[in-house]
Amino acid sequence: AAKDAGRGVYRFYADAMHDQASERKAIEDSLREALARDELALLYQPIVDVKSERISGFEALIRWRRDTGNVVSPSKFIPIAEDSNLIVPIGEWIIRTACDTIARLGPDYRIAVNVSPRQFANEKLPATVMSALSASGIRPEQLELEITEGIFLDESPENLEMFQRLKRTGVRLALDDFGTGYSALGYLKKAPFDKIKIDQSFVLGAADKSSMNAAIIASIVSLADALGMETTAEGVETHDDLALIRGLGCSHVQGYIYGKPIDVDEVLALLDAGGGQVVAQGFKSVRET
Ligand code: C2E
Ligand code: MG
Ligand code: MG
Ligand code: MG
Repeated sequence: AAKDAGRGVYRFYADAMHDQASERKAIEDSLREALARDELALLYQPIVDVKSERISGFEALIRWRRDTGNVVSPSKFIPIAEDSNLIVPIGEWIIRTACDTIARLGPDYRIAVNVSPRQFANEKLPATVMSALSASGIRPEQLELEITEGIFLDESPENLEMFQRLKRTGVRLALDDFGTGYSALGYLKKAPFDKIKIDQSFVLGAADKSSMNAAIIASIVSLADALGMETTAEGVETHDDLALIRGLGCSHVQGYIYGKPIDVDEVLALLDAGGGQVVAQGFKSVRET
């Protein structure tokens, strides 16, 4: 009987694994069509300069609106795009679309684009970046590439060479999700980053949790200052967190307190309405409370 039960359990897991694999395959197949069907869209979340209290730019965040009406989150489909190499054409589309949006916003704003590990490992990435820059006519410094501090980021000569090649195109480089990996300290010395993005796990609720998060943020900021890099605190949701982050000297803030990701028409409307002003008013009320 024990043997039968064991076989049942095995079959249960095998079926579950099979279901998972076929769900992935189904997502991969529809993702393959998504570009052609115009189902992918970039949303843009404001990034605010702490000193001037104005919007300095946006982070581009991808969304997949399926024909079923469902919106699939990037944490779900980017890994599938990575495994199937669909990330290469999708990543090219992301870079071109973001550059076109930058051109529409004018010379005063910057857009940050996420680059995933496979995309980063692709020899053609610098060429893709250069052709998007020249097609859109923007200044290269208006585009910032965010590379996540994941396990893939070892200090291999290939990785360091790719950072240098990207830097030579004139774009800015940011180290995303800082504090979630383990290898970044060596990188900070060797790779030409312009900015460190402090992961939201240190930021969300930093003001009301233990002072440990504040101490971690403070040390990241002093490291970045010493290396001449900017810092963005991600995931700032509350007035208390904002006040704390401000006090700790981060140069930029991003989070729901200033706005969720919005589409390009909303971005243009926000800037037309004097987005910087809206932000400054928002912040005044923060200081008053
Ligand atoms: P990320 O690059 O660290 O992006 C920040 C994530 O935090 C975004 O989630 C954003 O919507 C969310 N966020 C921003 N402010 C707040 C806040 O105040 N509170 C909370 N709770 N969350 C906040 P999203 O858009 O779901 O993206 C998740 C991840 O998917 C991104 O993390 C990035 O790693 C990846 N991703 C998104 N778009 C792209 C893309 O175009 N290409 C690639 N390769 N990856 C992307
Ligand atoms: Mg990012
Ligand atoms: Mg991040
Ligand atoms: Mg993150």
